[in-house]
Amino acid sequence: MSAMNLVVVGAAGRMGRTLIRTIAETPGAHLSAAIERAGSPDLGKDAGELAGIGANGILIGDDPLPAFAKADGVLDFTTPSSSVEFSGYAAQARIVHVIGTTGCSAEDDARIAAAARHATIVKSGNMSLGVNLLAALVEQAARALPAEDFDIEILEMHHRHKVDAPSGTALLLGQAAAGGREIDLDANSVRVRDGHTGARETGAIGFATLRGGSVVGEHSVILAGAGERITLAHQADERAIFARGAVKAALWANGRKPGLYSMRDVLGLG
Ligand code: NAP
Repeated sequence: MSAMNLVVVGAAGRMGRTLIRTIAETPGAHLSAAIERAGSPDLGKDAGELAGIGANGILIGDDPLPAFAKADGVLDFTTPSSSVEFSGYAAQARIVHVIGTTGCSAEDDARIAAAARHATIVKSGNMSLGVNLLAALVEQAARALPAEDFDIEILEMHHRHKVDAPSGTALLLGQAAAGGREIDLDANSVRVRDGHTGARETGAIGFATLRGGSVVGEHSVILAGAGERITLAHQADERAIFARGAVKAALWANGRKPGLYSMRDVLGLG
């Protein structure tokens, strides 16, 4: 079988460069185009050189449509508005679209879900095996430990350049906890606390955000009871874990029928 032709959008970004390196290391995957925003200072540069793996002859371009028309899939770690736009193009081309972008609004997600009628979309706030396993464990713990006895708090830290909060991963873990308790996350989450907040409400899922330095990603889910505490945690040391997950998701989705899938589907974690 021939290799899957993949376009990396946001190719000059932190994740874009990591994806280019990961595709080069993955049997069955082939980089067919690398796209950046119109006006980017990196247009025309060799994608391999930009990613630090030596020239590969793929020059960074700014026209996604012809690149999508010739590809089997798109790897996208960009911005919410760009990912919404790319999902429409992926639907037109009827190809795979792997979306790692975080910070999407409910409206963005609805538009991506609409595109998934024609594109095979895998979207996840975290593409790593470890975090998706952690989410499964959080769901189990939240189901086993009653809300009256155990409070759930989610703490995360990321590098100083991150623009959205709480992180997509923190929200993914919050969804897992809410799923375990069979409650709606939006109706039960406390995203920030400041000033005289009053006592904690039973059943709330709290979030706390730290930003600084070069931290790739740290998440802890704390289940705090009277006299005891359980902490389930994950630490990402390098971005390659997300890129490997994204390429794995693309290969898994290749040839599957259109729809909206999650990383838990890809990893068989249900
Ligand atoms: P980044 O370094 O800012 O990279 C994003 C790149 O996308 C930038 O080069 C940006 O260009 C480019 N871009 C934006 N809109 C574009 C468009 N319409 N066409 C082409 N290129 C476009 O950010 P990052 O650290 O790689 O993170 C990107 C996203 O992935 C964030 O939402 C982050 O939270 C998420 N993320 C997810 C996971 C996961 O596992 N799901 C893991 C890591 C990161 P400009 O700079 O010119 O705007």
